[in-house]
Amino acid sequence: MPRYFALAALLLCGVAASALAATAPAPAPRPAAACPEGADWNMPAAPLRIYADTWYVGTCGLSSILITSPQGHVLIDGATEKAAALIEANIRALGFKVEDVRVILNSHEHLDHAGGIAQLQRDSGATVMALSAAAGALEHGKGDRGDPQYLSIEAFPAIPHVKRLKDGEEVTLGPIRLTAHATPGHTPGATTWTWDSCQDGRCHHMVYADSLSAYTDDVYRYSDEAAHPGALASFRQAIATMAALPCDILLTPHPDASQMWKRLGPNATLPLVDETACHRYGAAVTARLDKRLADEKAMPEKEKAAR
Ligand SMILES: [Zn+2]
Repeated sequence: MPRYFALAALLLCGVAASALAATAPAPAPRPAAACPEGADWNMPAAPLRIYADTWYVGTCGLSSILITSPQGHVLIDGATEKAAALIEANIRALGFKVEDVRVILNSHEHLDHAGGIAQLQRDSGATVMALSAAAGALEHGKGDRGDPQYLSIEAFPAIPHVKRLKDGEEVTLGPIRLTAHATPGHTPGATTWTWDSCQDGRCHHMVYADSLSAYTDDVYRYSDEAAHPGALASFRQAIATMAALPCDILLTPHPDASQMWKRLGPNATLPLVDETACHRYGAAVTARLDKRLADEKAMPEKEKAAR
């Protein structure tokens, strides 16, 4: 019996030690240097805690979000192919292990958010999960004509295996619980992720709202209902879905889209927690979509015909 208890105690200690390794940040995190607005995609950023178990491990110009737990971590977005090494260095600088990343998620299937995922998957052994509408493009490294930027955007390293998720599906890992919200428009597979982060009994609704910018290769027209039936209506619905989410802390794949460097880090002058943020972001992207539709309408008829 005593041997049994000794073994049990050892096992318990082992569990406690590995739990500590997974949750404790480095003892004295170096002070984060400020990221400028409009920063280059591959400009290194110091990692920082956003709130509770949610950390920023991206570059100055592109977000990558780490959500940690004793049972492993979830990483959202891999930025560019070149940035993967910076993301891995940031995860380590916080005292976490890249090998403890168990799940990798993505905002949308473009090289500036999915480009580093193949390497991150290789180095961590994590499972990559995405909505079905994004999964094919992630596995090929490029979308199809349903992507408004199909003709102008470059390919990215293909991701070998992507687990398909449905709209509204939950991804769970230990205490972490995220929900996938289909928010198509910028790309067909664009996904907004939500979860709650809690600290000292205080929980915040976290929203990683995907890009909702109406940006095209100029051959794709949002107003061309015949070529893309239902796409414009889905885009407007996506914006409405995002804007109506319970939203305390808004994060975006491009930090500038939600003024993240004014709300996070040493240059912050605005509050990080703002429950009107998603609503205001929705108004901004709606104005951009309306402007794009007006531009398409103003396009000369013969130019339209040529397209
Ligand atoms: Zn994009």
